[in-house]
Amino acid sequence: MERIKMINPVVEMDGDEMTRILWKMIKEHLLAPFVELNTEYYDLGLEHRNATGDQVTVDSANAVKRHKVAVKCATITPNAARMTEYDLKEMWKSPNGTIRAILDGTVFRAPIVVKGIEPCVRNWKKPITIARHAYGDVYKNSEMKVPGAGKAELVFTDKDGKEVRELIHEFDGEGIIQGMHNVNQSIESFARSCFNYALDTKQDLWFATKDTISKKYDHTFKDIFQEIYDAEYDGKFKEAGIVYFYTLIDDAVARVMKSEGGYIWACKNYDGDVMSDMVSSAFGSLAMMTSVLVSPEGYYEYEAAHGTVQRHYYKHLKGEETSTNSVATIFAWTGALRKRGELDGNKELMEFADRLEKATIDTIEEGKMTKDLALITTNPNPVVLNSEDFIKAIAERL
Ligand code: NAP
Ligand code: MG
Repeated sequence: MERIKMINPVVEMDGDEMTRILWKMIKEHLLAPFVELNTEYYDLGLEHRNATGDQVTVDSANAVKRHKVAVKCATITPNAARMTEYDLKEMWKSPNGTIRAILDGTVFRAPIVVKGIEPCVRNWKKPITIARHAYGDVYKNSEMKVPGAGKAELVFTDKDGKEVRELIHEFDGEGIIQGMHNVNQSIESFARSCFNYALDTKQDLWFATKDTISKKYDHTFKDIFQEIYDAEYDGKFKEAGIVYFYTLIDDAVARVMKSEGGYIWACKNYDGDVMSDMVSSAFGSLAMMTSVLVSPEGYYEYEAAHGTVQRHYYKHLKGEETSTNSVATIFAWTGALRKRGELDGNKELMEFADRLEKATIDTIEEGKMTKDLALITTNPNPVVLNSEDFIKAIAERL
């Protein structure tokens, strides 16, 4: 069989532990037999990050600026235990944080929906994609414990030293205060990433804040989204047959619960943190969740939403059998290959991505799955496969 050719490369970011093992299997059984893989390879495994002083992470992110599309394996974010385990020179920062800082993107997370793994919310038929703003608010706050009676104020001092003050509260006794901020530029690029991704995936975009209560802070988010939408996206959305919909956060939550899914829900930083955990656990499993970082310049980095599955890796090292779910990692590859195909006008590559996704879903719907899914499926007789046999079962279908 003649293999599908790739015109331009995808930036390949290899990773750690069990997902690194799955990565190799996916390439060997699901990709290389069908596609002449054209990738620019970066080894983000912790050993190599340590050896290069983490330069490899920076290089890989800069490579995404050249090639526009990347696929990333899960990586270890070092902590104290990893310092000794890997004999690290430094406690290197989270690669995802480094890459996000260089590409300035928004992360979109969407569940992979299959029959037999039913969401807890019965009426959810289609995936709900969460877009989380990844800058500011309570994550970059400053806070104080108020020791006793006194006055708390917000003070802004401009470059000429002129002050503007706003009373927070006159305290009679002990209490607490908190200061938060965001910057318009970050909100603007968040808005553009969301509008672009909605057009890209042909899904409606919902956005919600508490602007009725927070008349300046949250209202600014609402206004920036609306201004950018009106100026740049209204026509494009109408042409694509999709809708931008703004509402209050509490109204949004109520509507989400009653909806059948199939839209993007843009969330402020804190809302996105909380709601993405709610949506992913309600849909079934972190191992069935994909994640893509989209930059306002149109760079795409695809990955699985879960980590390196350390516990399974230690079993694997001891020679024990593992049943680790590779679906999210497979979908990271299909996401990247489809996007590559789309940018290069390579229809064959796009169709291959569709077929691989279908083969994966059909394998599970037929009853062949990894242990994590077997524990939650409504299928009465699931066949539990080990990590490699599950991938081989998909390969056979493909
Ligand atoms: P994890 O790798 O997501 O795994 C936590 C647990 O969830 C696993 O022990 C397993 O449960 C279950 N699980 C996750 N993915 C699974 C899969 N594909 N198939 C089957 N079960 C799966 O999180 P962690 O153990 O807390 O973190 C391990 C390492 O990953 C850490 O060093 C962390 O820094 C890193 N991490 C990286 C990323 C990233 O690169 N994007 C994200 C998060 C964490 P059972 O053990 O019960 O089977
Ligand atoms: Mg969280």
